[in-house]
Amino acid sequence: MRRLLAGNWKMNGLRASLAEIRALNRGLAETPPRADILVCPPATLIAEAAKAVEGGPVAIGGQDCHALASGAFTGDISAEMLRDAGATAVILGHSERRLYHAEADSLIAAKVKAAHRAGLTAILCVGESETQRKQGRAGEVVADQLEACVPVDIAVSELVVAYEPIWAIGTGKTPRTPEIAQMHEAVRTLLTARFGAHGAEIRILYGGSVKPGNAAEILSVPNVDGALIGGASIKAADFLAIIRAAPGH
Ligand code: PEP
Repeated sequence: MRRLLAGNWKMNGLRASLAEIRALNRGLAETPPRADILVCPPATLIAEAAKAVEGGPVAIGGQDCHALASGAFTGDISAEMLRDAGATAVILGHSERRLYHAEADSLIAAKVKAAHRAGLTAILCVGESETQRKQGRAGEVVADQLEACVPVDIAVSELVVAYEPIWAIGTGKTPRTPEIAQMHEAVRTLLTARFGAHGAEIRILYGGSVKPGNAAEILSVPNVDGALIGGASIKAADFLAIIRAAPGH
């Protein structure tokens, strides 16, 4: 399966940062990547970023969307608006949205549907906290999130799952590779139970402190079909180093 390497800039980046997206696009145009490459900048930069990468190997995504297409929801942005600005994907259910915006699984499921409605690929994030892992509940937590956040009628071609253990995000800590393998296998099993053979086509990304130095090892783990990268996706040089570290590149 073709890998997806997706960058999540979070609330970082002014217009000057578009230079990083241009540099990434240029770097990849010279040696085309064997993976799909996506950058999810803040919403303010999506339209300009999409213009900057036009015709190149980099795609642009959003970091969240509202469940409805339009309406009286001050400050919100719909999936249709992201698409209109040039996005082709959207990250949904990131742990920072769940934590700081109290997003519940049912709302995230509605957002996944919205992404589908607008023709965007939904990158659905799931993952356990450190306490839940210590309690031996990581598998159960992720299974419950997947069950509740994946609508029954979603087109699998427009769904990507990102396993992001919360305690690994922005901390420099990562699970050991057998732990990543175990969780990704469990996610694969759940997806095939839900979608039959199509479940095998859904990309399962790993996210949480992926860096140039650990990318090759993590991306070699079975059922790891790519990565969701936060901090190390902001500088083109780091993101390029991760892309180049992917096995088979
Ligand atoms: C993320 O925000 O999704 C993430 C994985 O962040 P980082 O790579 O910085 O841990």
